[in-house]
Amino acid sequence: MTAVVNPATEETIAEVEARGADETDAAVAAAKEAFPAWRALAPADRARLLRRLATLVEEHHEELSRIESRNAGKPISGARGEVGMVAQVFHFYAGAVDKHHGETIPVAGGVDMTFREPLGVVGLIVPWNFPLNIASWKLGPALACGNTVVLKPAELTPLSVLRLAELALEAGIPEGVVNVVPGKGSVVGQRLIEHPDVAKIGFTGSTEVGQQVMRGAAGTIKRVTLELGGKSANVVFADADLERAAAAAPYAVFDNAGQDCCARSRILVERSAYDRFSELLVEATRGVRVGDPEDDATEMGPLISAAHRETVASFVDGEPLYRGDVPDGKGFWYPCTVVEARPGDRIARDEVFGPVAALIPFADEAEAVRIANDSEYGLSGSIWTSDGARAFRVARAIDTGVLSINSNSSVRVSTPFGGFKQSGFGRELGMHALEGYSEVKNVFYSTD
Ligand code: NAD
Repeated sequence: MTAVVNPATEETIAEVEARGADETDAAVAAAKEAFPAWRALAPADRARLLRRLATLVEEHHEELSRIESRNAGKPISGARGEVGMVAQVFHFYAGAVDKHHGETIPVAGGVDMTFREPLGVVGLIVPWNFPLNIASWKLGPALACGNTVVLKPAELTPLSVLRLAELALEAGIPEGVVNVVPGKGSVVGQRLIEHPDVAKIGFTGSTEVGQQVMRGAAGTIKRVTLELGGKSANVVFADADLERAAAAAPYAVFDNAGQDCCARSRILVERSAYDRFSELLVEATRGVRVGDPEDDATEMGPLISAAHRETVASFVDGEPLYRGDVPDGKGFWYPCTVVEARPGDRIARDEVFGPVAALIPFADEAEAVRIANDSEYGLSGSIWTSDGARAFRVARAIDTGVLSINSNSSVRVSTPFGGFKQSGFGRELGMHALEGYSEVKNVFYSTD
């Protein structure tokens, strides 16, 4: 049994049995057996089952939000938003089942058409920072396309996904279609990657483990989509609404205690506005409410574990520009921290995955783009300016998968999400995600 801990209190809130390779094999076998019937289900019936699951998530909204908040240490208000999105994701993919079309292609001598076929059994491996949300981004399109799944939650946060699997059965999704196998990455995850009956791995996690997934998948030519780390830039030009940009910037780094792959943890500011912006940023950061995740007003909770806190702390040496307060006593707390940095510094290059923002000045547009692109990652980012032409010039020039202008949002149910460079490949959400869970089959019918 593995103890599941509340990061805000350090109390054990559940014991979950870590499964082994044999149990993983059994789940893959169950998914394989369930596949033909699930694939053959009429599209409208598959859609109806996904819609029922979405409705059950809505009906259990508060329960799921509480589970997520306690297990991941995230503020209840944030958990409610995430669970709300989970329901929307299943609604969206219920609606997408019969809108993911093939084509007819003009050819000589007959009719050529394409079909979108499911892959079979897909293995889904998810991280601890948005346990249920990220699971739904993969489950929705995988199930909509007619695949069956084996999902491995992160060791630290298995509870919400285990509950979701119960709701899937309650919704009427047949046994064997959704299998959740909690356990170690090196055991359950590794077995899924190697298993000859698993057709694809949908992975979200660190770039390091993503490399292992890719390597392991080569053995059976598995399809892979990877959503990995990030070190995204929030680029603030002097002509931006500085008050608005500064008021929003803390939440783009400190939300989910910085444990967000989209965290805009490099804040690049045009030199002529640097002093004014840093004052405003410190002021806004002072306003972030850090404390008990169960309190409706809390905006930032603790980090996920003591070990992760040590890693985060190792990034900050010297006196930061600003360091906030944290509650006394138990919990893996780390304060909101703003440091001044240069582009080559470790804090400006590596993903911290904690509440530490690096403030970096730039001289002009060309330098802003150069610094923003000087990263092995390319997941997300923001541009703040009142010059519309510049906003689009810079948006096109930054090598990253998801950008927002005068906003820090990255994720919407209907729009594609995913990375460039070592932030991974493949797209989640929107209609784009369906590409990653289906194969294109081409059929020619002779009319001669
Ligand atoms: P992680 O890579 O350590 O673990 C992710 C998952 O992989 C977990 O379920 C883990 O058990 C499993 N795993 C670990 N070793 C494995 C192995 N050898 N074989 C198979 N599976 C294995 O990542 P984490 O610490 O849980 O999450 C943090 C990372 O995830 C950060 O780098 C963050 O940027 C990234 N992330 C990316 C996105 C995105 O969409 N791009 C979203 C959230 C998190």
